Amino acid sequence: MTESIIKPRMLINGELVNPSDGVTFPLYNPATREKVAEVPEATADDTNAAVAAAKAAFPAWSALGPAQRGTYFKTLARLIRENNTDLARLEAISMGRPMSQYIDGGTAADHFDHYAESWSSIQGQTSLHTPGHFALTLRQPYGVVAAIIPWNLPLVFLAGKSAPALITGNTVVVKTSEKAPLAAARLAELIQQAGFPRGVFNVISGHGNPSGATLAAHMDVRVLSFTGSGRTGRLIQEVAARTNLKKVILELGGKSPAIVFGDADIPRAARETARSIQWNSGQVCMASSRVYVQKSVVGPFLDAYKAALEAVQAGDPTDQSVSHGPQADEAQYEAVLRYIEDGKQAAGELVLGGEGKFAEMKGYFIEPTVFVDTPEDARVMCEEIFGPVVSVNTFDTEDEVIAKANATDFGLYASVFTRDLDRAIRLTKALESGYVAVNCSSPTVAPDLPFGGYKLSGQGREGWLHSMDNFLESKSVLIRLEDGGSE
Ligand code: NAD
Repeated sequence: MTESIIKPRMLINGELVNPSDGVTFPLYNPATREKVAEVPEATADDTNAAVAAAKAAFPAWSALGPAQRGTYFKTLARLIRENNTDLARLEAISMGRPMSQYIDGGTAADHFDHYAESWSSIQGQTSLHTPGHFALTLRQPYGVVAAIIPWNLPLVFLAGKSAPALITGNTVVVKTSEKAPLAAARLAELIQQAGFPRGVFNVISGHGNPSGATLAAHMDVRVLSFTGSGRTGRLIQEVAARTNLKKVILELGGKSPAIVFGDADIPRAARETARSIQWNSGQVCMASSRVYVQKSVVGPFLDAYKAALEAVQAGDPTDQSVSHGPQADEAQYEAVLRYIEDGKQAAGELVLGGEGKFAEMKGYFIEPTVFVDTPEDARVMCEEIFGPVVSVNTFDTEDEVIAKANATDFGLYASVFTRDLDRAIRLTKALESGYVAVNCSSPTVAPDLPFGGYKLSGQGREGWLHSMDNFLESKSVLIRLEDGGSE
């Protein structure tokens, strides 16, 4: 798997550039622990330069018709599809996603294609309800939008934030994650190739400090769309409040419950919930990490669930037969191992994994790990682990399981498995969650529906029918009619 060291660059003001002070940081393949890249660490000056370029590009870009903006999107979507295998490989060697599970390129291209056509739904309102006046609203772009993205699905978030911001006339600075910057850096080359006007679409790389923090504090950034941890989300919100009170959209963590009733299709429930916690090695904000099974069916459920998780193929993520990659880096790996130790101490019964079946492998591989009957107040039940570690607990009654499912600080995605339609509807109403899936689980989502969290899982919503709103101001216009408007 060794290949020559990749030296990605950043896209600032239409140019692919190295950091102004020449400082880069090493990136290691989590499957082999070998160095694969030296990545630019954007300085505060580089970040400011990207924002300045975006600000300078805003008047001309916002003056274009949206259909004209969309022509660049179509070119970019085509280039992404043409380069999908390369993007998948770069993600595999930077954060370990198996190429067999790579969806990011296709999803990103879909976002650009969708928004290229969706501009006609940007509309204001008119009103004659103020006597003597004609009233209307305008929807206008803010100016410079910043997007700060995590490492688990980089291009999905990069495109899901920047496409609606750009089509509505804003200009954009994206900061990628230090853990997975390679596919995004390749995308930056494709953005340049697609011919976007200089400064409209900038992509920088680096750690939270200095580039992320500089964006959060920047007085010329009017909207900041963030996906990542609650800890960073709060920091950004605080900095935004202290500086220019920029609009902040937060997509944060989760501790998603899946509830399996005795009347459910048990093999399906086991298959769906196992995939949910294993896909991307559990590094998914909406993974079903707390599974509640009605006592009458816990035996058959656990048999099918464990069988599904035992069947994973761990190995080189660039091998198409591999379905289970490593954790993204050493820090994630160590954090997940600590949670497994916590789970062992918490009096839950370990029924699968946790004993280091993959310990002999060179990379940061963790086998799917299942605890049963873990106390509800244990750390593994309350905190987001972001790894393939799950607790399966039992329940007797509907009221009991609703209370347990809602007894969390998070509220991103919940699943209910039952054949009883009335019960399914009662549960969807009762669960405190931005998403409720019935007889299916994450990572399945509908792209046109709003996605976002209750409680500590975030604020705001994203989605094809919602994201453009995030990047448009509403201006009310009142026009006095000289004749008093009498009809
Ligand atoms: P993170 O918060 O550590 O990092 C996210 C981004 O913020 C990175 O680009 C990082 O460099 C940047 N950052 C760090 N410190 C910063 C600062 N002080 N100012 C500005 N930017 C800063 O999160 P992560 O580890 O990359 O991602 C995992 C988290 O993301 C999990 O909690 C997961 O649940 C969450 N997530 C949520 C969603 C969602 O849609 N709700 C989707 C995916 C991931």
